[in-house]
Amino acid sequence: MGLHRYPKFFHAAIRLALKFIPAKRGIVFLTLHHIDSSEVEWLCDVLDDLKRSHDFIDVKDIEDAVRMPNRGSRPYLVLTFDDAFACQKVIADECLNSRNIKALFFVPTAFVGLVGRSALNFTKTSFYPNTQPKPLPMGGYDAMTWNDIRALVTQGHTIGAHTVNHPKLSNISEKEIWDEIVNSANILESELGVNITHFAYPFGSVEATGQLSHSIVKKRFKWAYSNVRGVFQDSPSKHFIYRQNLVPKSPLWLVRAIVEGRLDFLYRKKHTLAKYFFHSRKFF
Ligand SMILES: [Zn+2]
Repeated sequence: MGLHRYPKFFHAAIRLALKFIPAKRGIVFLTLHHIDSSEVEWLCDVLDDLKRSHDFIDVKDIEDAVRMPNRGSRPYLVLTFDDAFACQKVIADECLNSRNIKALFFVPTAFVGLVGRSALNFTKTSFYPNTQPKPLPMGGYDAMTWNDIRALVTQGHTIGAHTVNHPKLSNISEKEIWDEIVNSANILESELGVNITHFAYPFGSVEATGQLSHSIVKKRFKWAYSNVRGVFQDSPSKHFIYRQNLVPKSPLWLVRAIVEGRLDFLYRKKHTLAKYFFHSRKFF
């Protein structure tokens, strides 16, 4: 939501209206994508603000957190990053490690190591096929290197698969889907020497996912993530987990409203669709 384009009184009106929508309880997965150098401070401030009322947990502890959601009175957050931009390594170094926040990074393997024009071209064609990425100086969309990703693993962060080429999975053949999903996890495992049990669908909508890729993902991974808004417990299955996407520079009150699920009502239709296609009776 590019709310910064609207006048201040508009912010005040929305802020007031959102207060009448009850906050949701439950574990919340947060998603971030590209964050440029002018947005790093915003993210550090957001994390500090959320830490006052929430506990960031390591995704490695998710099963315990699901079994004991009321262990503490503070709700749990899990931080995730999609697409493996080099700026995310900067975030780990400058924001996460000093705050002892362990995040989950989803890596499209063909993007790893790309710099300059090839990184920009990949970004335009594979991450933003229908929109233009924000103009940045050359190098602004560089990818992490394998050494960056290995350093994240050493720092205690978790790596998840995000296909090889970041395609819209519902648009490609069964063989291509299988290759994109299974090969990406195999490449990550051989490069990093760790088990890959988490997967995020490119684009993350019900339409971009499709039932075929969902069924292949179920066979290969323990957990899989969408980009549909909602709390973890409302997700239709552990292979289509809802996440709350955060847009850099969003005001803190809006970030809080998103984290508290106050915007989820806008996604009721998407939830119905997700339940129809991906419902699993055995969630955990
Ligand atoms: Zn992505």
